[in-house]
Amino acid sequence: MNNVMLITGGSRGIGAATAQLAFEAGYAVALSYRSDRDAASAVVEAIEAKGGEAIAVQADMASEANIVRLFEAVDERFGRLDVLVNNAGIVDQVSRVEAMSAERIERMMRINVTGPFLCAREAIKRMSTRHGGNGGSIINVSSAAAHRGGSGEYVDYAASKGAIDTFTEGLAKELAGDGIRVNAVRPGVIDTEIHASGGNPDKPETSSANIPLGRAGNAREIASGILWLASEGASFTTGAKLDIDGGV
Ligand code: NAP
Repeated sequence: MNNVMLITGGSRGIGAATAQLAFEAGYAVALSYRSDRDAASAVVEAIEAKGGEAIAVQADMASEANIVRLFEAVDERFGRLDVLVNNAGIVDQVSRVEAMSAERIERMMRINVTGPFLCAREAIKRMSTRHGGNGGSIINVSSAAAHRGGSGEYVDYAASKGAIDTFTEGLAKELAGDGIRVNAVRPGVIDTEIHASGGNPDKPETSSANIPLGRAGNAREIASGILWLASEGASFTTGAKLDIDGGV
């Protein structure tokens, strides 16, 4: 049986690229999505067409019941879990803080912070040697915004990723004796559809001048960092925040 990697938000962008690289590295892949069923099915079909194993499960990260159901679906199909990639995340429309509603901020924190906490909880129950598991790895997708602050664009998003960095730090130490390594990647501006969802579709292009390497990154460049953190090559790495941002 191949090792199993669960990637939240695996239908598009960084999650879809991670699913593809995970398959290439020999993992069976479970991915979740919120609404883009066709995109999720396309990722699964591309892996299956090359002889790999993959499933896609609809699960809204804002719903605890959906998250529990997602992990049960992985249990049912694969009967094991080795790596969780907490990737699903959102931005909102560009806004200064004084224009943000409580609903916006709560939605941001629910999807970008509470969701990853609950996914980690479910993964720990299955992977921790304390609970009879074989150990494993958790990789959280943070953002360069966590240390840059997102001023004038989305401080709420940046703060949610700051919480993810602290979560990574604390959980890594908490689980060090449980056979589970916990790390994060902190992407800079990456060319995905997330920018259009925040009303800023040209961000990869317009940001290029401010990125030392002169361009936005692509999803595969983040996925390769995630795969390294999951691999044996990173066996002494826990609590790390790997900046993959073109040098910002
Ligand atoms: P993306 O292209 O917009 O894809 C987002 C993925 O997350 C999709 O699979 C989407 O599912 C899923 N998703 C969104 N909301 C969800 C919810 N409530 N429940 C379940 N799934 C949900 O985004 P991306 O750029 O690949 O971003 C992935 C991660 O990288 C995020 O955590 C983001 O904050 C982080 N990041 C991105 C950048 C960047 O510049 N792109 C930079 C730093 C950090 P559907 O397809 O069903 O909508």
